Parts: sequence; structure tokens; C-alpha cells
Amino acid sequence: MFIRELFGRGRPVISFEIFPPRGGVPVEEVYRTLGAIKDLAPDFVSVTYGAGGSTRDATLEIASTVKNRFGLEVMAHCTGLCHTPPEVHEMVEDLMYEGVHNLLAMRGDPPRDRHVPEGPSFPHGSDLIGYLRRAFGDEVCIAAAAYPEGHVEARDMEEDLAFLKLKVDMGAELLITQLFFDNEIFYRFLESIGRLGIRVPVCAGIFPVLNARQVERIVSLCGVSFPPKFTRMVARYADDPASLAEAGVAYATEQIVDLLAFGVDGIHIYTMNRPDTTRRIMNNIGLVSRRAVAGSGD
Ligand code: FAD
Repeated sequence: MFIRELFGRGRPVISFEIFPPRGGVPVEEVYRTLGAIKDLAPDFVSVTYGAGGSTRDATLEIASTVKNRFGLEVMAHCTGLCHTPPEVHEMVEDLMYEGVHNLLAMRGDPPRDRHVPEGPSFPHGSDLIGYLRRAFGDEVCIAAAAYPEGHVEARDMEEDLAFLKLKVDMGAELLITQLFFDNEIFYRFLESIGRLGIRVPVCAGIFPVLNARQVERIVSLCGVSFPPKFTRMVARYADDPASLAEAGVAYATEQIVDLLAFGVDGIHIYTMNRPDTTRRIMNNIGLVSRRAVAGSGD
């Protein structure tokens, strides 16, 4: 099923993001995660693509397994910065062969050594989206990444939003946002894109913070802002990991409840491959009427 078809059915679309295991952890570990959250019945699961294409084969294998073994709808992330058009073409053909037709198309982050191979590639998300639409037409459903506070490299918000509009004009059918901790910023973002005539569904990216190290990483990578109550929470429990994890789940829950009350199109939970956290948030947000809640994960 194309993920665009999930919207407009009178309830928010709930998705979980997972990533291929890193650091020599076997791929089976992510299947354990999937087994533990399958009964939460997300509308779809998205599978990340390592910086610079470093997880090409793992992303393909996991996306196929989500779809064909776990029976969940799937979206494969794909990036263009370090790939030539033939490489992207082959990757998408391989995905489609496995029945994966939903793509989150992005420029991507440079690899750790920051080396970007020479030759034709896709310098921006909009370039990759345009290519995919031309090459695969209606055979794929394409999502784009969006940044409610602006992309960390953007000159200003206005320019970033213009580039977001370009991604939609090139063929993106839905948007998934970077994590944010202040819902008011997200609501202002929705107003701004509405003024630009962007009418596609937007899934709000929610990241349950579980430890102080994650917060430092978020600052360095994403440049998102922290509202005072979030900063107070992290400061209060910085040396008490168990309490910070509890508070992080509560914070994410509160954010989602507010977003649901607002009437958002979708909630995209960055699960960090943590089934227990994901289950607790899902139970808390009370979308339980259509979801099983028994059992446990981590
Ligand atoms: P772009 O839209 O290309 O924007 C990047 C910068 O260039 C911005 O500052 C923008 O303002 C500017 N810009 C855009 N278009 C133009 C143009 N035509 N001319 C000049 N400037 C322009 N990364 C991964 O490597 N793997 C993943 O799996 C992954 N998953 C993600 C999932 C989500 C939901 C999100 C929000 C991000 C994810 N990322 C992932 C991170 C993403 O790849 C990075 O943020 C990357 O730096 C930007 O990709 P993009 O397609 O959004 O960028």
C-alpha cells in the first residue's frame, strides 16, 4: 500500500522509525525489536539509511523483512549525496522487487569521514525526489524530510521553506519532520507551509529522550531548541538515568497528546530500536482502542 493512502481516514497515522543495528550488533537484534512492537500495529515502519549509504544492504534487507515477514507497511529511507543516479536506480529497483514502494528521499548526511565521492549525485533532497519521480512515476510514494525550526545548514527559515516547497513540487507526497520539543514551533511551521501552499500531510517527529548524552548529540546534529521545561527536566535528572528515562517518556507522551488534540496528520516516533519505550508511549497516548497493549519489550 502507498503510505499516502493512509491519510485522510479520520485518524492520525502512527509510524515508528527503526535503524539497522550498528557497531557489529547482528541484524537479528532489530528483528527482536520488531517482534516486540508488531502488536502495537503502527501504520508503517520506516527504516533509516546509514550516512553516505553505509547501510544500503541492511536497509534493503530490514525493509523487506518488515514488509514480508512482519506484515507491516514499510518506508525505506534513501539518500542521494553519495550515490550516482544508476546506484539509486538499482537500489530502488531492488526495494520494489521486495515489494517496498514507499521512500523517504533525502540528500542525506555526509559519511563520518565527510568524504563525498566525486561524480554526478544528488546535492539536495529535491534533486533526488525529482529523479525518483521521473524514473519511477506512480510506482513509488515519496516522502521528504522537513525541519520545523529550519535545517541546521539553512541560511534562514524563509529560504529553507522555499526549498521544502520545491521538494513537494518535485513530487514529495508527504513530509516527516525532524524531532522537536516545542509543539508551538511545530504549529507555527504548519501555518507557514500552509501559507506557501504546501498541502501534503505532515507527520510530526517525536523523540523520547532517554539519556543526557542523546541531548548533547541532538544539539550538535540538529540545532533544535529546548523549551525551559525540557531543559529543567534534563538538568534535574542528568545524573539519574532511570528517572530521566521516565521523564523522557512522560515528556514525549505529553507532546503527542497535545499534537493529537491539535489534529495532526501523523506522529512519527523515533523508537531508537527501544520496544519498551515505544510500547509505554503507545499505551500512554490512549490510541489503545485499536491496538493491543499486552506484553513487554526491552
Ligand atoms: P535538503 O532538502 O537537500 O536540504 C539541506 C540543506 O540545503 C538545507 O539547509 C536547505 O535549506 C538547503 N537546500 C535545499 N535545497 C537546496 C537547493 N536546491 N539549493 C541550495 N540549497 C538547498 N539522514 C541519513 O543519512 N539517513 C537517514 O535515514 C535519515 N533519515 C532522516 C529522517 C528524517 C525524518 C529526517 C528529518 C532526517 C533524516 N536524515 C537522514 C537526515 C537528513 O539526511 C539530513 O538532515 C540532511 O542534512 C538533509 O537532507 P534533506 O533531503 O532534508 O536536505
